[in-house]
Amino acid sequence: MKQIHHLIDGAEHVGTSGRTQPVYNPATGAQSGELSLASVDEVDAAVASAQAAFGEWSKTSVARRTKLMFAFRNLVVDNADELARRLTAEHGKVHSDSMGEVARGIENIEYACDLAEHLKGSHSEMASTGVDVYTVRRPLGVVAGITPFNFPAMIPMWMAPNAVACGNTFVMKPSERDPSAPMFIAELFQEAGFPPGVFNAVNGDKVAVDRLLEHPDVKAASFVGSTPIAKYVYATGTSHGKRIQALGGAKNHMVVLPDADIDLAADSAVSAAYGSAGERCMAISVVAAVGEVADPLIDAIKVRMEKLTIGDGTDPSSEMGPLITREHRDRVAGYVGSAADQGATVVVDGRDAAFDGDGFFLGVSLLDHVTTEMDAYKDEIFGPVLSVVRCDTFAEAVQLIADNPWGNGAAIFTRDGGAARQFQEDADAGMIGINVPVPVPVGYHSFGGWKDSLFGDTTMYGPEGIHFYTRPKVMTTRWPDPVKSTVDLGFPTNH
Ligand code: NAD
Repeated sequence: MKQIHHLIDGAEHVGTSGRTQPVYNPATGAQSGELSLASVDEVDAAVASAQAAFGEWSKTSVARRTKLMFAFRNLVVDNADELARRLTAEHGKVHSDSMGEVARGIENIEYACDLAEHLKGSHSEMASTGVDVYTVRRPLGVVAGITPFNFPAMIPMWMAPNAVACGNTFVMKPSERDPSAPMFIAELFQEAGFPPGVFNAVNGDKVAVDRLLEHPDVKAASFVGSTPIAKYVYATGTSHGKRIQALGGAKNHMVVLPDADIDLAADSAVSAAYGSAGERCMAISVVAAVGEVADPLIDAIKVRMEKLTIGDGTDPSSEMGPLITREHRDRVAGYVGSAADQGATVVVDGRDAAFDGDGFFLGVSLLDHVTTEMDAYKDEIFGPVLSVVRCDTFAEAVQLIADNPWGNGAAIFTRDGGAARQFQEDADAGMIGINVPVPVPVGYHSFGGWKDSLFGDTTMYGPEGIHFYTRPKVMTTRWPDPVKSTVDLGFPTNH
């Protein structure tokens, strides 16, 4: 049985807490590994290593820092297939999807490789007579990254490359459900030549998270996960004086107007609802079908659902894999039942699909006539269930999004430029897709939702990531030559 431990001060640290947790292969249902859960002392050792490394690392030249980041980028590119393989083995998503996740992570490393450009600062010459003023951004110190199960490789790469390139040292706490991909990233960080302590990884549960949020030497934490834990992390971390960005859950709506290209809308809805078994924070979970588009759209979605191949993610013919755990699979299936009980029409029932073996598989479901009172609408299901809410007007669909507590992504499908532009202005969400169902921004923009999808002031990666991992320092300088000065007790004014 594979044993998974921690990476502290540049070397594997075999867990000493005596606490462990099983790791499963969701495609077979079999335990594939045993994960050490860190104690408070082990978290403290990781933070101490990061704190010790910070002094020298923060004074290392930008040239050297970015050279190492280039080396890390090349290692991830060279090992992308192996990283994706480890990811699929514990998450379950199909290999091609894992490769896509790794590719999006690499975008973020490439952004960090260009740090010299992003950290240029600003300079005002002759702000006052003989006085120049300039601003630089300095790293914070030790920063933590706490990540969810659903993008175990990409989300650490949203955080660590920017944090480390800016001169911080990093402690990662991956999800306990699929730790092998993030631990491989930790190994590649060491192989790239970063000094020991610049990147540490502790595996663990609430004990590790709580210690990171309370530790006096941790200056900031980035979190991605469910909304209740995001709220908790934000409240706990800020109450201990830390800078926190905590991204939460989502319920993403795709509005389809009557003039939309039905084939494009149906292809997009199926891809965005069932890709990665719906376990994406940017998955489409609700189609808001406006007017007469609902019936033809549902027919077109149904035809495509019937052709989907569900199976082990290592099989190249599989388009969708299993869910992350047996309990989660059963919880998702429960929403199909509760929707039927509460009056929805179950157009396709994923519970009817039969699978060999003990994998955590569930078929794809489509619910029609869903209303905002139903549990399937109110909760984040995080599985392969797509709900259709029928709306009479564009305004009703926009209001649906406004009334929803989450605000991660929202998409519209239409051929009407005016309606699309109106949607872009009015949709109450942080990331908008116009005929794009999963509008995850490129690495040189930033990622983050509104409302219950983000707690904190800064979104993640790209320019906002650099902002989060640094603080400004402003220099006001005077070089009079020769020196002519007088005593003046008045407040300095500019002239
Ligand atoms: P989760 O909230 O259960 O876990 C996230 C992290 O928090 C893990 O590292 C976990 O160990 C830790 N954690 C769990 N319970 C804790 C507790 N009581 N105290 C302290 N730490 C705790 O999330 P998950 O199930 O791993 O991931 C799925 C969720 O993440 C979904 O809600 C999804 O929408 C969300 N997500 C959001 C985004 C986004 O960008 N907004 C991206 C990906 C996933």
